[in-house]
Amino acid sequence: MAGRLKDRVAVVVGAGSCGPGWGNGKAAAVLYAREGARVFCVDIDSKAAEETRDIIIKEGNMAASYTADVSRGNQVEAMVNACLSAFDRIDILHNNVGIVEHGGVVETTEDSWDHVLSVNLKSIFLTCKHVLPHMEKAGKGAVINISSTAGVRHMGTKYCSYTSTKAAIIQLTRDIAMNYARSGIRANTIIPGVIHTPLVEQFYGGYSQQERERMIAYRNDQIPMGRMGDAWDVAHASLFLVSDEARYITGTEIVVDGGLIAKCL
Ligand code: NAD
Repeated sequence: MAGRLKDRVAVVVGAGSCGPGWGNGKAAAVLYAREGARVFCVDIDSKAAEETRDIIIKEGNMAASYTADVSRGNQVEAMVNACLSAFDRIDILHNNVGIVEHGGVVETTEDSWDHVLSVNLKSIFLTCKHVLPHMEKAGKGAVINISSTAGVRHMGTKYCSYTSTKAAIIQLTRDIAMNYARSGIRANTIIPGVIHTPLVEQFYGGYSQQERERMIAYRNDQIPMGRMGDAWDVAHASLFLVSDEARYITGTEIVVDGGLIAKCL
């Protein structure tokens, strides 16, 4: 089935990737475009946003790139206006931005806590605040927010600010879904498990090849399906949720984790 997003405009926030290869936001942006959407690729890193835009255009589809720090209200407002100027409307809002800073409550500094909450959670509040009125006027829209299994289970890592934001995203999304259900706007969360993206590769950066391989083998072994997922697994779940096939689905979550959460129960 091709053209599932024909005539739609998608804003993908965090559409770049933090290193070479396919990140979750980059794959979602490219997949939305392959299904016919015009994609507004937003990232704090201009080059990363442009790279995704260029991939989409090279494939013969439509995209524009835009630089913004989406933890800042004025920049989000300007981003929404820029998208409306470029593409006239917004049908899909995909919030992919997420950063990790390590530490439990004692080790985490107040600045670090505030920073992670601003980037991971406040950004979603801000993009929804500025996009939803336009969707409401149009009488339709779909919102995807990216959480993590770390938001619903302890993953064995100390990163309390990250886990708190990822848990809050789920309830914020349900809240939006309930408030806009009668306006034709659906909002859902994707809960990725352990996904092999450039973000994960960054963590291996300082290790030897042998150590890296050992850590990857360990991560793969934790998953009931025996391997990490990839960015396309998250992108395909997102595509389903923003498409008309999911027209009766709102205020819920799809877990994309190879069975990890079921194993942890
Ligand atoms: P990524 O880091 O490659 O891409 C995220 C993009 O967001 C980057 O290009 C970065 O520049 C951009 N960004 C960061 N801060 C920003 C800001 N303030 N304003 C605008 N853009 C900003 O990561 P990814 O692979 O695309 O996936 C990230 C999402 O997936 C996050 O929400 C993460 O929590 C979630 N996730 C990932 C995994 C995994 O194992 N990789 C697992 C669960 C959830």
